[in-house]
Amino acid sequence: MKRVLFADTIHPELESILSSKGFECIHAWDMNLEELISATIEKDIEGIVIRSRFKLSRSIIEQLGPIKFIARFGSGMENIDIEAANKRNINCLNAPEGNSNAVAEMTIGLLLNILRNIQIADQQVRGGVWLREENRGYEVEGKTIAIIGFGRTGKSLYYKLKGFNCNLMVYDPYVKIDPDQFSSIQQTEMNEIYEHADIISFHIPLTDETNQMINETYLNKFKKPIWLLNTSRGKILNTAALADKIKAKQILGACLDVFEYESTSFEKLESGSIPDPLKFLLSSNKVILTPHIAGWTHESNLKLSQILAKKILDLYNT
Ligand code: NAD
Repeated sequence: MKRVLFADTIHPELESILSSKGFECIHAWDMNLEELISATIEKDIEGIVIRSRFKLSRSIIEQLGPIKFIARFGSGMENIDIEAANKRNINCLNAPEGNSNAVAEMTIGLLLNILRNIQIADQQVRGGVWLREENRGYEVEGKTIAIIGFGRTGKSLYYKLKGFNCNLMVYDPYVKIDPDQFSSIQQTEMNEIYEHADIISFHIPLTDETNQMINETYLNKFKKPIWLLNTSRGKILNTAALADKIKAKQILGACLDVFEYESTSFEKLESGSIPDPLKFLLSSNKVILTPHIAGWTHESNLKLSQILAKKILDLYNT
């Protein structure tokens, strides 16, 4: 019997598929990190399934028993030291295909919400306030929208935005976009985006290069006031710079699903006092804030299970 440790609670479909193929799924979501490490050594474990409860750093990975895989139930892999895992011949699996559509749909929802004051107007009506002129909004049609990062989510967003009759630009230095497959999108350098963008949406991983990439210098380069959306990773954006640009009206509105100050598990904001830039955002009607839920739908939960199960089973040619 092949044993797998579930370090987080996961949609039951994954356990169901693995069990049907002869795996024993051990519920390890109450274990602390030491117990998890010991279990991989003592219980002849094949692999770990994890969302974001623990950071599997180099030193942790070096202490694990001789496991075959670490499967991340989600997209981003920044809580796993892949290099250290590869060194030990541990396969690192994830399932970004499972939630990219959910993120792209949420991005559309956030964009329409911020442009049309939907959330503000809803709160006003509930409070007995009926304001029409003050809530006159903006349309997506005709705007220049820059998609930063043209991976799974960036592409999914492209397909959704195509119907809005807007100008689409993309910046991703690591992919070559086939113009036959992606018509009506311009692959550009950032200079073009600084010049023309009205709206910018980020769909990039957190790496050494992207950490704090959107800072004051970056935001200063935009020629027009912009709307900014970040549904990728919180730490790519310097919140203080964002707050300053909103105050200076150089950013007309921002939608954040992810936060610089999120805990590594993404389950909460870091404990302690609320940093001033976040205090400002919490009190500003120019921002929409959601708790890292862009990829969280009932459908993506199921898809993540099915995709991850297939990738695990493929390791065993099952
Ligand atoms: P992906 O790996 O498919 O695509 C990322 C793209 O970003 C790649 O094409 C890569 O070339 C590009 N890229 C890397 N560095 C870049 C840079 N400096 N400038 C421009 N492009 C760059 O990833 P994805 O599945 O599209 O996910 C994108 C991000 O969204 C990830 O950080 C992921 O963790 C995050 N995400 C968030 C949620 C959520 O719930 N909010 C859910 C899923 C994924």
